[in-house]
Amino acid sequence: MDMETLAQAVIAGDRRALARAITRVESARADHRTDAIRLVAEARAAGRQALRIGLSGTPGVGKSTFIEAFGMMLVDQGLRVAVLAVDPSSARSGGSILGDKTRMERLSRAPGAFIRPSPSQAQMGGVARRTREAVALCEAAGFDVVLIETVGVGQSETVVAEVADLFILLLAPAGGDELQGVKRGIMEMADMILVNKADGDLKPAALRTMADYAGALRLLRRRPQDPEGFPKAMVVSAVQETGLATAWDEIRDLANWRKAHGHWAARRASQARHWFGEEVRQGLLSVLEREPAKGSMAALGARVEAGDLSPEAAAATFLALLQRA
Ligand code: GDP
Repeated sequence: MDMETLAQAVIAGDRRALARAITRVESARADHRTDAIRLVAEARAAGRQALRIGLSGTPGVGKSTFIEAFGMMLVDQGLRVAVLAVDPSSARSGGSILGDKTRMERLSRAPGAFIRPSPSQAQMGGVARRTREAVALCEAAGFDVVLIETVGVGQSETVVAEVADLFILLLAPAGGDELQGVKRGIMEMADMILVNKADGDLKPAALRTMADYAGALRLLRRRPQDPEGFPKAMVVSAVQETGLATAWDEIRDLANWRKAHGHWAARRASQARHWFGEEVRQGLLSVLEREPAKGSMAALGARVEAGDLSPEAAAATFLALLQRA
């Protein structure tokens, strides 16, 4: 199938075509890259936009359970929901591709939903590109909401923050009163903290954790893209399906406020600019992996190792060669 036909099938809502298209953007093959660029360009030309929600949380906080319950709630409201997992499956706890699927059993069977498990292996740069392009394909396929899930290893939150319209951090109730070692950078990215498992014996701890985080969020600087009261901490129970509708209301309010105040478009514009820079950087890195750059690097590296040239002088020579090439 040529890429134009595949893109049209994606736009027509054919989910097998969507799965194939995502496989194409995940591929590392050079000819597939050309296909992927064409596919994504066609997809973007459809001009559709979804609400892109980033969701992060360490293994065990209940991401799959939450996504299943939250996703089903949205599907029951007539919305179409796509779920993309960001982290390579080797980085997930016990996360085989099959594992991902069976963890969201109801949602994966729902006609209004599409679940794409994590790619089995990818470099971080590749993960960023794949995620961004897969989101574009899901938007073209007419999904209303794209949930982008990460376990928060390495730089994956940054990838999610750079692709999502808003970012949710899912936490579990803490035993003590410590802030669970959540990195400040992640807290700063969060538009909403949801403390999950607010049910049964865990409810008091969940409420306490929520209060702790609400306090911590208030201490963080208010951002111009936040309406009054955001970033916000709330409790939910994915198992009992409580708090989900309230969380969705808040998410929509935040999205609408940002749209009305120009922050929505501004964020997408600055994300596009960021991705441009990333593509250039990735492109430069791939130049280094090809001849003649690769050979020059190896030759100069050997001379540095032999004590013939200083690292700085060798780098300067190399960069001069690269600029002439
Ligand atoms: P993930 O690793 O973040 O995807 O977490 P899972 O969704 O697999 O859930 C991890 C464990 O927490 C499972 O045993 C779930 O049944 C449990 N869990 C998830 N959500 C809730 C909840 O709302 N309440 C309670 N009590 N347990 C939950």
